[in-house]
Amino acid sequence: MPATATDPHTSRTRSWWGWGYVDAHPDDAECVATGALLPGTLARPLPVPRIADLPIGRPAATPPAALAHLVTADPRARAAHAMGKAYRDVARALRGRPGRIPDLVARPARDQDVTDLLDWAGGHGVAVIPFGGGSSVVGGVEYRGDAHRAVLSLDLTSMDRVLEIDTASRSARIQAGALGPALEAQLRPHGLTLRHFPQSFEFSTLGGWLATRAGGHYATGHTHIDDFVQSLRVITPAGTGTSWRLPASGAGPSPDRFFLGSEGTLGVITEAWMRLRERPRHKASASVAFTDFARALEAVRAIAQSDLSPANCRLLDPGEALLSGACHDGSAVLVLGFESATAPVDGRLAAAVDLARAHGG
Ligand SMILES: Cc1cc2nc3c(=O)[nH]c(=O)nc-3n(C[C@H](O)[C@H](O)[C@H](O)COP(=O)(O)OP(=O)(O)OC[C@H]3O[C@@H](n4cnc5c(N)ncnc54)[C@H](O)[C@@H]3O)c2cc1C
Repeated sequence: MPATATDPHTSRTRSWWGWGYVDAHPDDAECVATGALLPGTLARPLPVPRIADLPIGRPAATPPAALAHLVTADPRARAAHAMGKAYRDVARALRGRPGRIPDLVARPARDQDVTDLLDWAGGHGVAVIPFGGGSSVVGGVEYRGDAHRAVLSLDLTSMDRVLEIDTASRSARIQAGALGPALEAQLRPHGLTLRHFPQSFEFSTLGGWLATRAGGHYATGHTHIDDFVQSLRVITPAGTGTSWRLPASGAGPSPDRFFLGSEGTLGVITEAWMRLRERPRHKASASVAFTDFARALEAVRAIAQSDLSPANCRLLDPGEALLSGACHDGSAVLVLGFESATAPVDGRLAAAVDLARAHGG
């Protein structure tokens, strides 16, 4: 595996401590300028610690020769897999105090690699933590406790292909390590989309979405990833299971529900059959400013409870509106979006804007 966290699709290097690519990070002057916009912050950037200054010891376990090609103990890779991307994680990284840094990082290329790594780890007191895009905001990719001799971060992003497309049923079998953009790029030529867009889309994976029950940014209609699952393939220390692929079922408990939201604690999701949609051909959007945030909330409720079904109905409070460049005068901003593969949506957008106006927008 490469020593740096290089994205194989873009050949760009991801930051080991912060969001995005190294070459897109703001410089110190930009950090100060942005910090000055936020009340209560110290407008002084913290220096990024050198990897050499991080508490990275010798790995406490060595993989067998048969698995060595999948595993690295490179300090940069280990640092990049130590934490998620919550504000708290970024602050800890910049202070040079990450949590426990994994001893090893593995990048399996196929299911058998995952099985072999779990078998080895299970027999040698090594904890395994599945890792997708690493955008967790709840400490899900971190090791807590001291029951294990060593920690291995299992990075799934080499398993990133759309394996099969069923155009009749509009669904696809997709490997769990596919990051959002790569997943959509593989569906696009077929005129299909998963249309699941968490804000972290660029740096999060299908497996991460499933393991955290992610919600999409297009969040008023179908939003939870759970709604799109037809079946899962999961490798656990006790064996491999694939749930029965059904278009829909009301028979008994759903085994998929067991793994959805399990945060990697019950096994490694390696692939899933997902429901897809036709790519939308008709789109319309608008933003509406509100000086009164409480009235903006009422507008959102009115639109959500109407039968207009916006694809997006997202309210930015004044702080987020300022930071995202949507509005600079202290107003809240409601972002509305409508889309359809079959019919124009301008009428629905106009009706939603009328509702927003009626509530002071
Ligand atoms: C800027 C930002 C914006 C965000 N926006 C949203 C949002 O709009 N909606 C939302 O729901 N969340 C959001 N999040 C949170 C995060 O992006 C989601 O939880 C996302 O689903 C995590 O995906 P990931 O691939 O990065 O998983 P990771 O962070 O790598 O892992 C998350 C958890 O899932 C487990 N896991 C990962 N892959 C697998 C696998 N293949 N099998 C089993 N377990 C696995 C990990 O062990 C961990 O417990 C955001 C986070 C950030 C930093």
